[in-house]
Amino acid sequence: MKIHNPASGAAIADVPADTSATVRGKYHRARAAQPQWAALPIKKRLAAIAAFRDRLTAMHEALARTLTEEVGKPIRQSRNELTGLAARLDFFLAESQRTLRSETVLADVDNKLEERITHEPLGVVANISAWNYPYFVGSNVFVPALIAGNAVLYKPSEYATLTGLSIAQLLRESGVPEDVFSPVIGDGLAGAAVLRQPVDGVFFTGSFETGRKIAASAGRRMIKVQLELGGKDPIYVCEDVDVKAAAAAVADGAFYNNGQSCCAVERIYVAEAIHDAFVEAFVAEVRAFRLGDPMDEATYIGPLARRGQIAVLRRQVAEARRLGGRVLVGGQPIERRGNWFAPTVVVDADHRMSLMREESFGPVIGIQRVASDEEAVSLMNDTPYGLTAGVYTRAEKRAKRILAEVRTGTVYWNCCDRVSPRLPWSGIGHSGLGLTLSTYGIQAFTRPKAWHLRSA
Ligand code: NAD
Repeated sequence: MKIHNPASGAAIADVPADTSATVRGKYHRARAAQPQWAALPIKKRLAAIAAFRDRLTAMHEALARTLTEEVGKPIRQSRNELTGLAARLDFFLAESQRTLRSETVLADVDNKLEERITHEPLGVVANISAWNYPYFVGSNVFVPALIAGNAVLYKPSEYATLTGLSIAQLLRESGVPEDVFSPVIGDGLAGAAVLRQPVDGVFFTGSFETGRKIAASAGRRMIKVQLELGGKDPIYVCEDVDVKAAAAAVADGAFYNNGQSCCAVERIYVAEAIHDAFVEAFVAEVRAFRLGDPMDEATYIGPLARRGQIAVLRRQVAEARRLGGRVLVGGQPIERRGNWFAPTVVVDADHRMSLMREESFGPVIGIQRVASDEEAVSLMNDTPYGLTAGVYTRAEKRAKRILAEVRTGTVYWNCCDRVSPRLPWSGIGHSGLGLTLSTYGIQAFTRPKAWHLRSA
């Protein structure tokens, strides 16, 4: 399989892809290796993850450069992802043992009865992953899965293959046996080959379209399935904000990683009274973004990871124009080698436009004016997705009232595009099923076993 640099289109590596036969072999070896891994004291598995963390730190710069080369993420943002990963690993290292320990829920001495819960690993799990934050979305799954005693078949995205291979190598060097964590290399066909194996759970991060196929396949077999899918995440900016500060924060939420974040701001609603001032400040922010070679320290906007997305963005912008949207910045691909689209702001947007309904996953944003909190909430909820939503206002009560009415897994007050390892990460509707992160996202890789124990 050829790996291309999205900034230049140049081929940068050639890696052997898995076939159905090699995937089957990896599955059988994982199945054979898992019981021994699960039988280790949890401290040993935690030690391997701690060693993995140390290796990531030692390799920080080289790994960041690989990520930038194959995904096009600006180098400073690649470094940020690796730094953020260390914090996530620290959370798992600190919380897993307590979260997974067995629990006596009844100790009835008179009747000699004890009731206990233990957390058993699922067995062999499939981790099918996305490219946009390969370290984050991968580690949300494989780290707690390994700590809980599972073996993992890890299918990195075909757009983040080199990063996937680095992860596998570092885990191996850190003491995770080769058969306990096996990378499966290739595109969707390799992912489908993983799903043909009798795995005990599927943990998927990616698009709604693929997620739906995966849910159908897992449903037929009655295995655990978790889906972290896309979003069309809204922000509502109220009239009482510091307009410049809110515009800068929301522009970053919309354009960081070139808009290729599951929780990127994808649509903005602005209170009538400040609409024009907000748009002016927002456009100034976007115009100031430095676009260019993602290896350049000063670059904030790089190329799109996938060439195919250019056509999606072009279509959304053309349709918005046709329906009365005004394009204030950008609006078209940039003619140069690689996958480039100009950062784009469309005002007078509304929900007839796919720009306000379908995931853009790129540097394109629509802004719509609203007359009231009620209208804003109703528009925020007018979507099949439900990943995150946020509101900018000085008024705490108002913010909490609005956020209570919004149907999403995560809500933000005066912040956005943010993930915390301490909080559950989940979506509603087309945004997914199940959750990762937080202590719940550690237990997600186990099944609780109920023990009724009567002594004599
Ligand atoms: P994608 O659905 O195209 O691919 C995801 C993975 O599935 C890849 O590894 C791919 O090879 C594999 N795949 C494709 N077809 C398959 C099949 N039939 N069977 C098994 N595997 C198959 O998504 P993508 O482009 O990699 O990621 C972008 C999407 O991911 C966006 O929608 C984004 O919002 C979403 N995402 C969500 C989260 C979250 O936490 N909710 C995080 C990151 C990305």
